[in-house]
Amino acid sequence: MSADSRIDPERLWGSLMDMAKIGATPKGGVKRLTLTDLDRQGRDRFVAWCKQAGLAVSVDGVGNIFARRAGRNNALPPVVSGSHLDTQPSGGRFDGCYGVMAALEVARTLNDRGIETEAPFEVAMWTNEEGSRFLPVMGASGAFAGAHTVEEILSARDLDGVSFGDALRAIGYAGTTPVGARKLGAYFEAHIEQGPLLENTGNSVGVVTGALGQRWFEVTVRGMDAHAGPTPMHLRRDALLGTSFMIQEVNRLARVNEHARGTVGMIINRPNSRNVVPGETVFSIDFRDTEVAGLDRMEQGIRAAAQRIAGEQGLEIDIRQTVFFPPCRFDAGCVAAVRAGAGRLGYRHMDIVSGAGHDAVHIASVAPTAMIFVPCEGGISHNEIENAKPEDLAAGCNVLLQAVLAQAG
Ligand SMILES: [Zn+2]
Repeated sequence: MSADSRIDPERLWGSLMDMAKIGATPKGGVKRLTLTDLDRQGRDRFVAWCKQAGLAVSVDGVGNIFARRAGRNNALPPVVSGSHLDTQPSGGRFDGCYGVMAALEVARTLNDRGIETEAPFEVAMWTNEEGSRFLPVMGASGAFAGAHTVEEILSARDLDGVSFGDALRAIGYAGTTPVGARKLGAYFEAHIEQGPLLENTGNSVGVVTGALGQRWFEVTVRGMDAHAGPTPMHLRRDALLGTSFMIQEVNRLARVNEHARGTVGMIINRPNSRNVVPGETVFSIDFRDTEVAGLDRMEQGIRAAAQRIAGEQGLEIDIRQTVFFPPCRFDAGCVAAVRAGAGRLGYRHMDIVSGAGHDAVHIASVAPTAMIFVPCEGGISHNEIENAKPEDLAAGCNVLLQAVLAQAG
């Protein structure tokens, strides 16, 4: 293996810009929702590129695509790298797509240099990472890792009542390869950071050591609808006012250390009328932290606050957990391979913890895993203006090549 093996930055950028045309939005972003006809077009283009690169393409029962480059010893478990091609409704050009195109660029570079790895190398594309059309989010990598059953994934329905399984068959990507149940030698995922740390510190590569744990709740607050005029302030049971105190508390609980996060992003207010004291609200809480103890502390804090606020305001507050991902620590050997690659190539790099969930978080439960982050402009993602510099994207891809070579031999 040699440190001067480099990827082709222009080819990588060209692939990203070509893929961004499929589902391009007027504001410069991409809308390519999972299992739609645009998703099919993106997959078709990706598969065509894989075949041009001489890779053997297979598709599993939840639509995950694997493109395999043989090694010297094909009995060895493959080293795998990839991400997702689906986007949010107002998504950008790089979230997910970068990880798939970077892995493809690694395969193309190995071809150009005539490098034969000991273990096979595979490019992976995971179905429905975003979860914006079908729940659960990261469902197909989760099925691969055994966190969800195939039945659970295929039976999920979108808002129009269409099932995941029917949508998958309609675009022609219901594959025959069994889901999961095989050993991977290592898994690497390159991704834009989706936060501001790398840009703010002038680093071009993030060595991702793990991901924040997440605990989500759905909270229902019940008071009583009342006329905004005749009802004196002290007789009100205002569900939205109680909710506002809860939101303050979520924010306060998450401000204790640099890794904790607390967000209320969704509220339904009933009856949502200008001259009615709100009788019921439903809202979400998203807590994140590096430690389970931190998640527990925030949960206890919000439950105690709910009891106090309910008593003071004459409300009933019901808190139900909807999502739990334990904090994830990536494999020390894979993380070291990423760090060594960045060091060898002379890129400014730092260790970083992912605040977002990624397919890699599921794969980490069944294979040695690490991620590589590159900066994105202003830390902005899940937005049509999402942007990243070609030189940073190339740097992350070069580090990926080094890490793949280190693990595939
Ligand atoms: Zn992503």
